[in-house]
Amino acid sequence: MEEGGEKRKQKLRIVLVPWVFQGHINPMFLLASILHEKGFSITLAHAEFTPIDPTSHPHFSFIPLPDGFSGPDVGISFGSFLNFHSAINTKIESLLLDRLGREIDDESGAEKIACIIYDTIFCNVESAAHRLGIPSVSLHTSSATCLRVHLNLPDLQSYIPIPDGFGDEIAPGLDPLRFKDLDILLAPHVQEMLPFVAKTSNVTTAAAVILNTGSCLEQASLEEIKKKCGGGGAIPVFAPGPLFKLAPSASASSSLLEENTDCLKWLDRQAPDSVIYISMGSLVRIETDEFKELAHALADSEQPFLWVVRPDLLQGEAGTTAAVIERLPEKVKRVILEEERGMVVEWAPQKEVLAHKAVGGFLSHCGWSSTVESMGEGVPMICRPGFGDQWVNARYVSAVWGAGLELGGGNRKALERGEIEAAIKKVMSGKLGEEMRKKAGDMKSKIESSIVKGGSSYNDLDSFVQFILSLQQPN
Ligand code: UDP
Repeated sequence: MEEGGEKRKQKLRIVLVPWVFQGHINPMFLLASILHEKGFSITLAHAEFTPIDPTSHPHFSFIPLPDGFSGPDVGISFGSFLNFHSAINTKIESLLLDRLGREIDDESGAEKIACIIYDTIFCNVESAAHRLGIPSVSLHTSSATCLRVHLNLPDLQSYIPIPDGFGDEIAPGLDPLRFKDLDILLAPHVQEMLPFVAKTSNVTTAAAVILNTGSCLEQASLEEIKKKCGGGGAIPVFAPGPLFKLAPSASASSSLLEENTDCLKWLDRQAPDSVIYISMGSLVRIETDEFKELAHALADSEQPFLWVVRPDLLQGEAGTTAAVIERLPEKVKRVILEEERGMVVEWAPQKEVLAHKAVGGFLSHCGWSSTVESMGEGVPMICRPGFGDQWVNARYVSAVWGAGLELGGGNRKALERGEIEAAIKKVMSGKLGEEMRKKAGDMKSKIESSIVKGGSSYNDLDSFVQFILSLQQPN
């Protein structure tokens, strides 16, 4: 980058607006760290109820927007979620208009805002940006394939409701996804969901679209999205992901919950590739029966394990992690709490855990961040999706990358005694597991090649920076 360009960037500010959940906050903060390292000044404007700790990020400035919400209860119905989504979007739009509008009017204001990067779920931010005359960039934090599914939904309307026996059929235009991977089409409230999905997958109005993925992960889906953005490829699409691999290594954590770092010391005492790590991310809640099956499998498999049991992991029950564990049968509880072979934490420093040499497998709900974090570290997965795009991601892990397997054959049925244990043994020690480990290792190598000079993600990041700079040039 020539010197003048660097100087110009120093004065440019980017305002980033993350959606309110952990799985969305993390990629937005990673992008913020990357752009800060590239010389931009960074402001995070966020809903005030998200407990973001500004002191962990002294290089960024923060605008907590007094939204007046106490946060959505994820156990609530989809209808209530839609109301929450609509209300907070309206509120944040007006708060941003007011706050940034005042800054723009105050001509002594220090740095010019080059663009607003918003999580696509915060769709009204785009209209606020438009009214303020600031270019906006839409960040999709889920996979390119998920966006591809959403863009194809109008063509799948005739399959709603999905006819009996169609679950294993390949969905037209979405190979290798089966109908049963398209959670949205299976939802009882599918007709309510479609307008919501259309609004939150909009690729026709922002100045650009950026995704937390790369060609090495999802080339075909990216190609298709690129053709469709702007209604015919008019809007540029950047895929400099997975962002966690490109972010400066010293980036502070954006965890909303306190990470238990003792588990890293525990991992130091375990043999290479011996530990199965289990986490269902920040939102998925599981049935008590499934929780017990998991505990039995961990007790019976004799495999070392690190298990994230969030206090709100069980459906319909709030409590503490200790209270949740307390409800397990005595024999299982003893093994679970015996620190020799396993460790239970409320929240883990997941990226460090997956990068630890002792971790040999990841039983996951397959949120997109968890999926790319696992592939980026070459850790094979046992997939047990909860909802939404997690089914699509699980299909990619197993059928496209060959780096894991789907529990229960990718079906929504309850798991039987022995099923989870067998899957753990398969991935951790079987011949099939060896192949999956090799494939996950290949994914890691591909990702690492994509982020170095000349690689696709490296190039896309470079093009994205040039794009932001070009937004400043006089017409
Ligand atoms: N995570 C973490 N500690 C945990 C569990 C999850 O730091 O104990 C992080 C994980 O690294 C990922 C994010 O939380 O970045 C979860 O995002 P994902 O998209 O995987 O799932 P979601 O929580 O949105 O369902």
